[in-house]
Amino acid sequence: MTDIGRMLLFSHEDCLGHAEPPGHPEQAARLMAVERALAGFDLDRRAAPLAGRDEVLRCHPAGYVAQVEAALPADGWAMLDGDTWLAPGSLTAALRAVGGVCAAVDAVLAGEAKRAFIACRPPGHHAETARAMGFCLFGSVAIAAKRALDHHRLSRVAVLDFDVHHGNGTQDLLWDESRAMFVSSHEMPLYPGTGAARETGAHGQVVNLPLRAGSGGAAMRAVWAPALARVRDFAPDLILVSAGFDAHADDPLASLEWEVEDFRWLTAAICDLADQVCGGRVVSALEGGYDLPALGASVAAHVDEMMRRA
Ligand SMILES: [Zn+2]
Repeated sequence: MTDIGRMLLFSHEDCLGHAEPPGHPEQAARLMAVERALAGFDLDRRAAPLAGRDEVLRCHPAGYVAQVEAALPADGWAMLDGDTWLAPGSLTAALRAVGGVCAAVDAVLAGEAKRAFIACRPPGHHAETARAMGFCLFGSVAIAAKRALDHHRLSRVAVLDFDVHHGNGTQDLLWDESRAMFVSSHEMPLYPGTGAARETGAHGQVVNLPLRAGSGGAAMRAVWAPALARVRDFAPDLILVSAGFDAHADDPLASLEWEVEDFRWLTAAICDLADQVCGGRVVSALEGGYDLPALGASVAAHVDEMMRRA
């Protein structure tokens, strides 16, 4: 028996080199907390490769990439928007984050494993076509979705986003893409302010599930169960997940009040759906999650559930 089939974990120490000013919630310690939480897991650990320029250009114009490159500081920090900063290592980290999700898609579609988790940073789901936002530089998951469609020639993919903030960037990058269904649950009202249920994409393929502050895990399950039925009807060939864990009750940035068991429930429901429609293929990438103990425990439950059902 070989290792084929073990769940994949993509990460890279370069992702620690993306630094923000002291006190910023999106800190390198987040990745260290995730690594500690997954230390005892039997995973096929791989280095996230650097994404090639062509991958980034699937979703972002060359002028925007050049703008990020030009803003890169020689030392210290440079501010891209009100809460998105660049350090000298930030571009390399962001390219590892994009490359990690793309490599995970490649490996899963090659049959090397059914599931993969990408523990990289910066996150990506707020980055719009030509605009860095909300700690995000490039839309890693949207780029990987485009790669699955255009390079691997899949007919349809689904992107499921349970970060507590609306995935405005992913929605922007996939708005016109009829082959990609995008489903996002998020607290509303909350940053970035988008994600109303009436935002349905150019082809009715965007599904927004706004949730009220304090609504808790029961409200989450009530909106995700019918949404996953819609994903089943869409019949994707691959499911990508924007896995943010800032809906946890202990998170300092939001108030949806989910518990670890809620992340476990949703992960199980996604894996069950994947087993029904796409051979179990799930590629999940870290987005937010800012309380370090809650982040570690939630990631551990997410990955454990993906492994258990692989
Ligand atoms: Zn978030």
